[in-house]
Amino acid sequence: MRSGACPKCGRTEILDGVRVKVPSAGSVDDVRVVVAPTSGMLRQQTGSDLRAWICAGCGFTELYASDPGLLADRWRAGER
Ligand SMILES: [Zn+2]
Repeated sequence: MRSGACPKCGRTEILDGVRVKVPSAGSVDDVRVVVAPTSGMLRQQTGSDLRAWICAGCGFTELYASDPGLLADRWRAGER
């Protein structure tokens, strides 16, 4: 749905890259996906913002990680 029509209703007006917020999270208001080493002393997380693509007709929403390449590199290295 990042390009083209909504798969649910067919509308082509899509709100792209909308920020996703979690009101109860205080100042940390962006939703992120993270991966981190599963063992070892240092477990620094690698994260990526999530952005929403929203259909203007029915509200169907897809989420995309802003930096999937970096997450994929860490994932292939065994981080979860
Ligand atoms: Zn739709």
